[in-house]
Amino acid sequence: MSGLGQWTLGARRSIRHLAADPSPDSDATLSDGSRVAVIGGGPAGSFFAYFLLRLAHTIDLDISVDIYEPRHFTHCGPAGCNHCGGIVSESLVQMLATEGINLPPSVVQRGIYSYVLHMDAGSVEIESPVEEQRIAAIYRGNGPRTAVDMPWESFDGYLQQICEKEGAQLVHQLVVGLERNGDFPVVITNEGTTTYDLVAVACGVNSNFHMLLDGSTSEGKPEVSRTFITEFKLGADAILETLGDSMHVFLLDIPRLEFAALIPKGDYVTLAMLGEEIDDDLVRRFLDSPEVRAAFPADSIPAVCACAPVINVKGPERPFGERVVLVGDAGITRLYKDGIGAAYRTGKAAAETAIVHGISTDDFETHYFPTCRAIANDNMFGRLIFFFTIAVRKSKFVRKAVLRMTAGEQRRPKGRHMSGVLWNMFTGSAPYRDVFFNALRPGFLLGLAKSLAAGVRPPQKES
Ligand SMILES: Cc1cc2nc3c(=O)[nH]c(=O)nc-3n(C[C@H](O)[C@H](O)[C@H](O)COP(=O)(O)OP(=O)(O)OC[C@H]3O[C@@H](n4cnc5c(N)ncnc54)[C@H](O)[C@@H]3O)c2cc1C
Repeated sequence: MSGLGQWTLGARRSIRHLAADPSPDSDATLSDGSRVAVIGGGPAGSFFAYFLLRLAHTIDLDISVDIYEPRHFTHCGPAGCNHCGGIVSESLVQMLATEGINLPPSVVQRGIYSYVLHMDAGSVEIESPVEEQRIAAIYRGNGPRTAVDMPWESFDGYLQQICEKEGAQLVHQLVVGLERNGDFPVVITNEGTTTYDLVAVACGVNSNFHMLLDGSTSEGKPEVSRTFITEFKLGADAILETLGDSMHVFLLDIPRLEFAALIPKGDYVTLAMLGEEIDDDLVRRFLDSPEVRAAFPADSIPAVCACAPVINVKGPERPFGERVVLVGDAGITRLYKDGIGAAYRTGKAAAETAIVHGISTDDFETHYFPTCRAIANDNMFGRLIFFFTIAVRKSKFVRKAVLRMTAGEQRRPKGRHMSGVLWNMFTGSAPYRDVFFNALRPGFLLGLAKSLAAGVRPPQKES
């Protein structure tokens, strides 16, 4: 259940009391008339603004929120695009619904019911482990370059709308600097400067803005890695025929490629590639591989859009400062998966801290940082799991065992150990810690041992 629903007008006094905890900076709180700026209107900025305003209304606190965002998410192509595979786990869709954020069908392009894992050793379809655990495919902007008059809505645009309904002002301007006037942050655009009581930096990592931040706003910079994303127009019927209702994941022994996925969305298919510094050569090697050619005729379909965004692979040491907090990719996010889920978690935690506790460095350290640390600690398990994935990619013998085990499990209703681990790893639906410990369960280890052994056993002679 949403934490917001439990709040009443009468709670305001006790919340203010909580905020008055006797730390030296505790006078930094939001009060009636306070002004808040959000730099970036992607998911993290919108989640932050939405929860901040919802909480403020609940305790009758009168604040104003300006969201600075130069993009127009009603535009298709690069002008409205926030470069993303667009996979949202069903658990996040349901979590958002409990918060009162009901994604309309026009935002969810396609419910995805299964994954097809492709390796050189073969392919296997992995069904959702629990029926409800579908995943949703969305467009962050209004679709690829050629997607004019399409009957869908942008995910980021939808989140902005709900913020505006809560009273946020959308300012279509690029922020070019963040300075201080005493303790107070000052937002600089080409139109002028404005002083705020609090600034949430939600600029992601694909503009240079996060590199401009100095030690007074955060400690350290996010580390990033380059990715590649492209869109093919194939038509809904042809997509159903080739890819069906499944997301297609490729674990191939191509150096520098960690992972690639083809995601069906309406008339289009999104290809997202993650790995070490993806370049044209790597993209070509991937598209030319027999596994991709067998699943998808990429060669005969021209790409309508392509870009090479970066992804946050490690957050700054401390994503906050006095009256400034970094949320989403600009701060700490999940490694390779579920960045939108992390934007929700960090955006909400930062908003709760600001309203319930205060906006000083100490407040963010005590009440916001634990959420960031939990994500960063979970990413350590993620790294271990990705080491395992590398081992699978590198050894044909292990690849065959994984495939054999998964295919065997998919023929029975229970005991789907490898399937569950792969599903959660590819969808990001579960914490990496859970995936890691599930892979240490006796059922998983025994199944894998049997499957590896089957690979060395000589074929039985026919009598
Ligand atoms: C190839 C790829 C595939 C991915 N696939 C998925 C996926 O399938 N599922 C998933 O959950 N996550 C995925 N992610 C991760 C996900 O995209 C991010 O985690 C998520 O977008 C973070 O949201 P954010 O709001 O923090 O940042 P962003 O989405 O980057 O939004 C930042 C916003 O800030 C604005 N901005 C930037 N600078 C300024 C400025 N100076 N002034 C004003 N505004 C500014 C930008 O225009 C943008 O709208 C993927 C990432 C990549 C690179």
